[in-house]
Amino acid sequence: MTQFTRPIHLQVVLPNYKYLFVMKEKNQMLELIYDEELVHQAELLLESNSIFNLSNIGSNLYVGNVKDGKIYEVEIQSPFAKKQKASCDCVFFTQHKICKHIIGLLFAIRNEIKTKQETKEVIGEKSKQKLTSLNINQMLDEINPCWI
Ligand SMILES: [Zn+2]
Repeated sequence: MTQFTRPIHLQVVLPNYKYLFVMKEKNQMLELIYDEELVHQAELLLESNSIFNLSNIGSNLYVGNVKDGKIYEVEIQSPFAKKQKASCDCVFFTQHKICKHIIGLLFAIRNEIKTKQETKEVIGEKSKQKLTSLNINQMLDEINPCWI
């Protein structure tokens, strides 16, 4: 997390960029860089369970609500891709085209995707173990004599 580079796909007019997300798209490593203070505030929102109603409403389109004084509606299309489009109805977003609510929702989406992938990996690992632990005798044992 110490690598600092210029933002590639977000026009964030703020100093102190922070390396946050790295993703692979068409064999290219892409980075999303956000202001450190915004990232910190987004983490606080996530920790205080202020991000809710996250749902995937279309192909790679996510919406969610963020409670931060009032409730904001955040929408993110293609969250971890070059063509990412995000919107929020707060004042900061209209000025900077990014805000802590969007980053907070990105965190929430990332967590959800991560949970799904981990579940898949666990299931994959189990079925693999089953395959290797069955030798030919065990397989023969499992064949009911009535079938032959
Ligand atoms: Zn916002």
